Amino acid sequence: MSFSALGLSEPLLRAVSAWHYESPTPIQASAIPAILRGGDVWASAHTGSGKTAAFALPILQRLSAEQRPGGRFVRALILVPTRELAAQVGESIRKYARYLPSPLKTLVVYGGVSINPQMMALGGGADILVATPGRLLDLLDHNALSLSAVSILVLDEADRLLDLGFNDELSRIIALLPPRRQSLLFSATFPPEVQSLATALLRNPVRLDVPTEPATKPEILQRAIEVDTPRRTQLLLHLIAENAWLSVLVFVATKYSTEHVAEKLRRAGIESAALHGELSQGARTQALADFKAGTVRVLVATDLAARGIDIVRLPVVVNYDLPRSAVDYTHRIGRTGRAGETGVAISFISAGTHAHFAQIEKLHALDLPREQIEGFEPVETEAPVSLVAPDGGGIKGHRKSKKDKLREAAARAAGTGDAPSASAASSSTPTSSAPRTTPPAPRQFPKASSQSITDKMPSPRSAWPRLR
Ligand code: AMP
Repeated sequence: MSFSALGLSEPLLRAVSAWHYESPTPIQASAIPAILRGGDVWASAHTGSGKTAAFALPILQRLSAEQRPGGRFVRALILVPTRELAAQVGESIRKYARYLPSPLKTLVVYGGVSINPQMMALGGGADILVATPGRLLDLLDHNALSLSAVSILVLDEADRLLDLGFNDELSRIIALLPPRRQSLLFSATFPPEVQSLATALLRNPVRLDVPTEPATKPEILQRAIEVDTPRRTQLLLHLIAENAWLSVLVFVATKYSTEHVAEKLRRAGIESAALHGELSQGARTQALADFKAGTVRVLVATDLAARGIDIVRLPVVVNYDLPRSAVDYTHRIGRTGRAGETGVAISFISAGTHAHFAQIEKLHALDLPREQIEGFEPVETEAPVSLVAPDGGGIKGHRKSKKDKLREAAARAAGTGDAPSASAASSSTPTSSAPRTTPPAPRQFPKASSQSITDKMPSPRSAWPRLR
């Protein structure tokens, strides 16, 4: 299928071709015509599946065809959970809008930076506003804009919005929107909270279910390497040198560890940066920009970087510390192997974390061979006391929270659990431990399939297909 078959205008077709998108991704093939038709859409899609263009292109087309109201009005509102994702979505929209004959004003607003420039920029309104909920409410409190003319609402990563506790903010924002509007909801997972939100928000939506998810993507080679806790940095350095990785995203458990590990790598001559939630917004943006630009070779991050961040051609993700939950594992490894590329996801397993990793594997129906690297064979037989949780069940402070357990139980009850199907998961189990570290040049997404589209939203919750 080609983009021209989707009903997009010539300036938008020019933009996608300028970005060398040869054909639409599955979510684009199904969402673009549905959004152009004007109805509500509820789509399952991860960042990395091409979902920004899936909603941005038809929104740009629709807004270009309509008259812009004067005043402090916003026409399309896109709510996202994190500042980084807001910046990324804004950037993508600007690139897709480049050839439109009349420019559309796109603004991005998020917290952690001064509100005044954002208030000034909102003078005269905006065609498209990409916002995190908290800052949007602050701006509304300052009377900096009006939502009463919003004709299109997008909730991007709706599950994450709710996960981060934005429920109350969302309700306040939604109450300010006109009832007659087009609403588009994108979510990677469909826990019960998302289902209630969708029911409250959407009217007779078209349901799009695109079956691609990071944990089951065969293009990600998952590896589990046994190593003693104190030797992880040395092993990481060894792997970087041996595989000549130019870009590595390393996940650790704490903010302190991001700084500590990055510092150790820098001392060993590897350009590294730390990324965590307590850095200033400027430092966060800089760390990510440097990593994307390749001036920083290793980014050591907390789970802040696990969602929504699109790093083109990232060959490797390393779980230096294991993620707390199976869901976090999915999102972390999904930073690599994006947009049809291949990638490697390595988890370091030490004496104290065997059981925890086995639990993650169980939830994903994985059974990864345990590898040992020559010179780094583990000798610890028990977990160091400082790293074991009181019941010995995992990394201290990183066992599943009560909320995680409730969420997983609810997802299981609704048939929307995190675990991929056995058949899907088996395709992601590597048949060899040899790393595939060189991604192919052109991006290739799986072919769009009309089977991924269900026309109407099934009513009872139990009717929902398992999405992840
Ligand atoms: P997203 O899911 O929107 O974060 O997009 C993930 C990546 O895929 C971004 O780097 C996009 O530029 C890229 N992308 C989106 N659509 C296509 C397409 N049709 N062909 C190739 N790359 C694409």
